[in-house]
Formats: sequence, C-alpha cells, structure tokens
Amino acid sequence: MKRFGVSLPQELAEAIDKISQETGATRSEVVAAALQEYLEMQKDHKKPGHQCLGVVMAVTDAFSDVGDAIEENRTHIVAYTHLHVEGRCLTIVVVKGDGDQIEKLTLEVAKRAKLARYVPLL
Ligand SMILES: [Zn+2]
Ligand SMILES: [Zn+2]
Repeated sequence: MKRFGVSLPQELAEAIDKISQETGATRSEVVAAALQEYLEMQKDHKKPGHQCLGVVMAVTDAFSDVGDAIEENRTHIVAYTHLHVEGRCLTIVVVKGDGDQIEKLTLEVAKRAKLARYVPLL
C-alpha cells in the first residue's frame, strides 16, 4: 500500500463520502475502485499505433467554460456541437488522435465542466 494526498473538488469529495457511507467501503476503497475502472478504460488507448476516435460530452453553465479547451485542441477535433437541455449547456465534441492527446483533451474539458465523459467510438 502506498499513501499519498490528493486534492479533490468539494462535490467530488462529498460524493465519495456518500458512497463510502452507503456501501460501508472505506474512502480509499471507493477511490481505488473508481481509479481501477478509469485505468481499464484507458488501457486500450495506449496501444502503439492506436488512433482514438470518440466523443467528449461536457455539461457546463456556459459554452465559454469549455470553449478555450476546444480552441486549444482544434487539431484533434473533427466536429462539435453545442445545445441546451433544461437550462444547461451540453457540448458534444467528436475527437480523433493519439490516446495521450485525447486523454489530455478530455481532462482539460473535465476540469472546466460540471460533468464530462469520453465515449470511444473505436
Ligand atoms: Zn482510443
Ligand atoms: Zn450554451
């Protein structure tokens, strides 16, 4: 076992505590399970020569929240659209590129969004 400190947004920390209380798993176990799933998901995208094609969906208060991240990563963006659902902004971005680049792009969008998901098409 290795211990290290991480900083989490308040909402995320509270969500982890809630799952911990509901399931009886420790905070560390909840984080480890979530991380394991994330790493599994990433694994395929690290294969040499693999080109990612997928969709990043982001929920924000305004397009400007993710606009910069999209502009900065223009070379990996095939197309995107922006729409409104129940007063919230939904940006859907079709992305293509090396696994590392797509991961970086997804993390940059996730940092700025209330909710962000990468869905692989390949
Ligand atoms: Zn991929
Ligand atoms: Zn909007």
